[in-house]
Amino acid sequence: MDAVLIDWYSKNKRDLPWRQPDTTAWGVLVSEIMLQQTPVSRVEPIWLEWMARWPVPSKLAEVSQGEVVRAWGKLGYPRRALRLHSAAAVIAAEHGDVVPSDVDTLLALPGIGAYTARAVAAFAYGKRVPVVDTNVRRVVARAVHGAGDAGPASNTRDMADVEALLPAEDAPAATMSIALMELGALICTARAPRCVDCPLLTDCAWQKAGRPEYTGPLKPVQRFAGTDRQVRGLLLDVLRDTDGPVERARLDMVWADAPQRDRCLDSLLVDGLMEQTSAGLFALPGEH
Ligand code: SF4
Repeated sequence: MDAVLIDWYSKNKRDLPWRQPDTTAWGVLVSEIMLQQTPVSRVEPIWLEWMARWPVPSKLAEVSQGEVVRAWGKLGYPRRALRLHSAAAVIAAEHGDVVPSDVDTLLALPGIGAYTARAVAAFAYGKRVPVVDTNVRRVVARAVHGAGDAGPASNTRDMADVEALLPAEDAPAATMSIALMELGALICTARAPRCVDCPLLTDCAWQKAGRPEYTGPLKPVQRFAGTDRQVRGLLLDVLRDTDGPVERARLDMVWADAPQRDRCLDSLLVDGLMEQTSAGLFALPGEH
């Protein structure tokens, strides 16, 4: 499987800015955090801006949390911006401003989880480590196990599954990791896999088994309209668009449902994405 997939990747990979040969490990780390639950098209312009403004971790660590949340723009899940800011401070202070290459050291950074640590080790440093995201789990479930889709995630089993597929050497293993992910993103998609274009077609266990339907538990469909996530985003937008603290009345205007609005405001304060001044005004963290 590995040679076919690596060859397919070399010919079909998307030309993404964080895949350019001069991208630093810091650039890869920022891209991996931004890409979690966010499409490439939305990440691209923000990533380019961040790299131009903050080419090394110490530059990001110098600015306020509020500035980082503002620059996160509309990428969503803005706690990720604070996590990156915290990780940047530790990388600058304890690792000579260079993102570590070792999985355990990466895992010890604030806010860096199992996926991100391994993605950085593989994609920035070319190491042989299993990198498992939803796309990879789906490709393995179909191509190797003959199932219609991946069942519930299990860190240990999923990583062992992927590790077994990787070539022995570091460099081809790292390419295989990214190729599996790219295949899941472009060809072996969740709803309509384009099997006729797939390099694994003749070996795919799902094809050989007659394309059985997936019968396991379904993932909940993520809606956005009317959710707390939407309301939190609207509240933060008010502060992103101003330079200083605002009155409560400005925030109250963005959402009519008062209990939901209050709940979201509280959660933003608890998450450290917003602060209240002694005069009762609201501001981005560190901006008052
Ligand atoms: S043949 Fe179809 S199901 Fe099998 S890995 Fe390729 S795209 Fe996925």
